[in-house]
Amino acid sequence: MDVPKPRTPAASSHEKKGSRTPEERISGFATDVWVGRFEAKRVICRGCGKTVKLDQRSDYYDGLWIKHRQRCRKIKAGVRLQVRMSWSLMERG
Ligand SMILES: [Zn+2]
Repeated sequence: MDVPKPRTPAASSHEKKGSRTPEERISGFATDVWVGRFEAKRVICRGCGKTVKLDQRSDYYDGLWIKHRQRCRKIKAGVRLQVRMSWSLMERG
């Protein structure tokens, strides 16, 4: 006799639209020409040199950065800083 197999829904594939894995977000920052430097919760804008704080509740969440990138005048002007930036320097003011 065959034992009826329990039908399990495909729980392994969780495809939420719009949400990406941290790895994908990291590679997004890494390949973004306007990212001077990035950490889990902050990014230095290479246009204006400001530190852009990211979502504090999740790592490498790029929503706030995307927002800055759309607004940043320096980015719009195409000004790219050629500096090696340090957080301590940027956090003044
Ligand atoms: Zn900027």
